[in-house]
Parts: sequence; structure tokens; C-alpha cells
Amino acid sequence: MTLKKRKIIDGHIHYAHFSYQDSLMAIMDETGIEKLAVVCTPDEARLSLVPDALLLKAAYPDRIYLFGGLDISPLFISPDIAGEAFAHYVDVLLGMGVDGIKMIEGKVQMRKMLPIPDFDARVYAPYWEKMAETKTPLIFHVNDPEEFWDAEKVPAWAREMDWFYGDGTYINNEVQYSQILNVLERHPDLNVTFAHFFFLSAQLDRLAGYFDRFPNMHVDLTPGIEMYFNFASDPDKARAFFIKYQDRILYGTDIGARALLRDRNAGIEQEESLARIEVVRNFLETKGSFRLSHQGFLFGGKEAVFQGIHLPEDVLDKIYFKNFERFSGEKPRPLNSEAIVAECQRLETIIMAMAQVQPGTAGDISSVRKALDYFQS
Ligand SMILES: [Zn+2]
Repeated sequence: MTLKKRKIIDGHIHYAHFSYQDSLMAIMDETGIEKLAVVCTPDEARLSLVPDALLLKAAYPDRIYLFGGLDISPLFISPDIAGEAFAHYVDVLLGMGVDGIKMIEGKVQMRKMLPIPDFDARVYAPYWEKMAETKTPLIFHVNDPEEFWDAEKVPAWAREMDWFYGDGTYINNEVQYSQILNVLERHPDLNVTFAHFFFLSAQLDRLAGYFDRFPNMHVDLTPGIEMYFNFASDPDKARAFFIKYQDRILYGTDIGARALLRDRNAGIEQEESLARIEVVRNFLETKGSFRLSHQGFLFGGKEAVFQGIHLPEDVLDKIYFKNFERFSGEKPRPLNSEAIVAECQRLETIIMAMAQVQPGTAGDISSVRKALDYFQS
């Protein structure tokens, strides 16, 4: 990769275990990424990946933004008041010094796995109100690539991940779009970035309509490799769109996704990470076609030809860091040890209780213990 060094914030990185610190930061240093946002998803055995991310943020307080996942246990324990519980949890997360909220709950597979209410259902209202009122940054994964519902078009790697949704038992994108639009209509102040271009990279006119209606809405460029195939089909149109909506698009890569989804023992892999940086940056900066020299996880083969859109420098700066800083603050927020200790103690209790109800699926307290050791001392 021969890309020039420039100021970049990666707004979408996964960090599935505290032991990945050195491998992640080595890649960030090597590729010149100044700051990054860790987006936390729920975890079956450890309930939350927030303690791991807190340890990373404590080690690099000026470089790490942390987007905490919601504690989803209210969906099981008290589903009727889950929205109130989530609203309260926003305070808990912010109190610890988290920078924003990450929701993976709109990923189609998650909708099927967990008893998640419709996003525009009454039960969620207190949570959306809270998020809008406090303008808390939200990175929200809603939907998936359309081809995942199509038996002919679903990529082999998606089938392997169990992401073929065409058997009639999964929610579809249109249902979720309409739920989300209702939420945005009711809460126009919601400060939200939809991950993976809101899965609208093949429908730029439609996305333009949403941007025009909802001034606090953004999207990130985190692959979904389908996004870069879609852009390549009409690079002139993509370029015009990026210039028109240059304030609404954020850089992100999903570095760490492989360790999260596939192989926890492998840590953050350099090859995967470089491929992710390569596709996004080359798309934004290159004039004409390019190929990848690295192999990305969930990218399919390496032989594909992509098209760059060669954006002007000032637009690149917005996409690489200025938009993120406007969305989420110029600096990561400071941590509060006392609040972290209280929450880690609470998580520990819940993890132990869950392990008794469902032996084998839960019960790993290694991360909360590690965080308690660190923040208590
Ligand atoms: Zn992700």
C-alpha cells in the first residue's frame, strides 16, 4: 500500500478481548491511524465487551473513543420496561466515560436471535428520548446486504457465517427501514451514524432523501464489501454523492471483525486489517481502478477490480476525521474509575447468575475481573 500519511480517525473497530491491545495498537501505529473508536457488541459468555474496551481506553486515553453496547439483559428479565432500562444504562455508560453507544441490534441475525422489540415500538421510546435529548452519539448497525436474502446471489462467505436469510424466518430490510424512519421522525435530534452506509450504497438517491430529511444522520464507510462493488458500478455518481454529502460520511473499517466473529485466538490480524484500510482509502483517494493486495475477511476473493473516486483534500479531511470529531467530540471523554468499578461489580454478579441458569453459555468473568483489578488500584 502506498497511501500518504494523513490524519485519520477509524470510527468503527472491534476489540473482542483485552489481550489484543498490542496487536491492535501496532497496526494503528504502522498505518498512521491517530485515533479510533471501539464499538462494543454484546457477548454470550462475558455479557459485555465494554470492560475490555475500558482497559484499552485507560491505556490510550487520548486515542480511544469507546462506544458501549447496551446491557441487553432487560430484554429477558423485564421486557416491558426495557426502554427505560436502556435509557438508564445510557447514564451508566456515560458516567463511566464512554463516548457513545453502539447498537448491533438491527443486524438481521441479531433480530432473530434475541427478543428485540420493533425499534419504533412504545417500549423503546424512553431510550430514544434519552439519546436524542443528550445528543449521545449512536453507531447503529441496521440491516444487511440485500443479496443475503437471495439464494442465487448470497456470497459463499456469508452462507458460511449463517447469514443467508432467504428462508422466510428473518426480518427484511424494508421493515427495519420503516421502523427506523419512524424513530427519526419522532426524534430528529438523534445523533446517529448508520454503519455500513445504512446498506443503501446501491440506492444513493434514496439515501440522499434521508440525509435531506434528517440533518443529524450520518453513515460510515465500514465494509460490507458489496458497498465498494456498488460504488464501482457508477463511480461518477458515487463521487458526486460524496461531494454533496461530504459532511455526513465517516471513515471506518471493522478492523477486529474477524477476531470477534471467527477466531478469538488469532487476535487482530495484520493482513485482514490492511485489506480493510486498503479498500476504503483507495476508494476515496485513487483515480481510476484498483485491486487489493491484501486478503480481507468477508471480502470474497482478491481478484475483484474496484474504482476510486479521487476526492479533493478538504473532502477527504472531513471523511477521515472532521466529521467524526463533530459527531463524537474532538477528544475522547475521560474515564471515571469509581463508576467503572461499580458497573464491573454489577456485571460480575449478572454473569455469575446467568451461568447458573444457563451453564456452559455464560460465566466468563475474566474481563470484569481484569478491569476491577486495574480500576480499583
Ligand atoms: Zn462492525
